[in-house]
Amino acid sequence: MRTNIPSCPFRIGNGYDVHAIAEGLPMWLGGVRIDHPAGFVAHSDGDVAIHALCDALLGALALGDIGHLFPDTEDRWKGADSKVLLSLVMDRIRAEGWALGNADITIALQRPKIAAYVPRMRETLAEVLGTDSGQISVKATTTEKMGFVGRGEGCQVWATVLLYRDEG
Ligand code: MG
Repeated sequence: MRTNIPSCPFRIGNGYDVHAIAEGLPMWLGGVRIDHPAGFVAHSDGDVAIHALCDALLGALALGDIGHLFPDTEDRWKGADSKVLLSLVMDRIRAEGWALGNADITIALQRPKIAAYVPRMRETLAEVLGTDSGQISVKATTTEKMGFVGRGEGCQVWATVLLYRDEG
């Protein structure tokens, strides 16, 4: 469906995702494997940061959401590497004639501490998106042990992106 994208040369998008944490699963976050005995429950690899980022990109162009593009009812997305999903989403953004200005991601996770992984997340996401890590911000916070994140039951991520019309 081609929507009537107006002539404004900029579009912003926000994305939000949550995944539950369970023992014995691999933990993928921001395209990076986190060394931890628990991971995210999901149909794909559960990379909740990439899922929020995909939704922000799609949201910026009113193209629906990640569940719409890659339904969890389809076997081919079972255990999918979320970096592949992100790459496909970015292909779609480019095909619509837009480029990524910057992305800003906030991850709420009580444990493990992920600050040491942030530089690799920024590099990894920038590589998948075909941009520089200076355009990709990743911030991590706990919730001071409050709520489902604070109890270690899940991880919550918000992502914001700016797209600009790419005439090239
Ligand atoms: Mg998800």
